[in-house]
Amino acid sequence: MLMLTCPCCGVTAEETEFAPGCEAHLKRSGAGSSNEDFEAYMFNRKNPRGVHFERWRHAYGCGKWFLAARDTMTLEVFGTYPAQTAAPPAEIVAKIKEKRPQWEGYE
Ligand SMILES: [Zn+2]
Repeated sequence: MLMLTCPCCGVTAEETEFAPGCEAHLKRSGAGSSNEDFEAYMFNRKNPRGVHFERWRHAYGCGKWFLAARDTMTLEVFGTYPAQTAAPPAEIVAKIKEKRPQWEGYE
């Protein structure tokens, strides 16, 4: 079972209290970008078997969005952090590298 902690209100709950919101840290391509860049922004998503960064919303709690780093195979959560964060926090990246030495890192 996937257990997440909302960094906004501090509640830890099962995933049924949260709503998934796709991949985190997407690079937006808007007006003036090439068709290929816009297509990649709209449709191309990572689907790794292992470490993944995702958006979640505390749907049955405070209602706020946040980001989570977790392993899609084991459901181990490495950490959650505010949605306004542009890149994974250093302490979460260090925790992932400690537990998954073969992890190639966040691009
Ligand atoms: Zn919350």
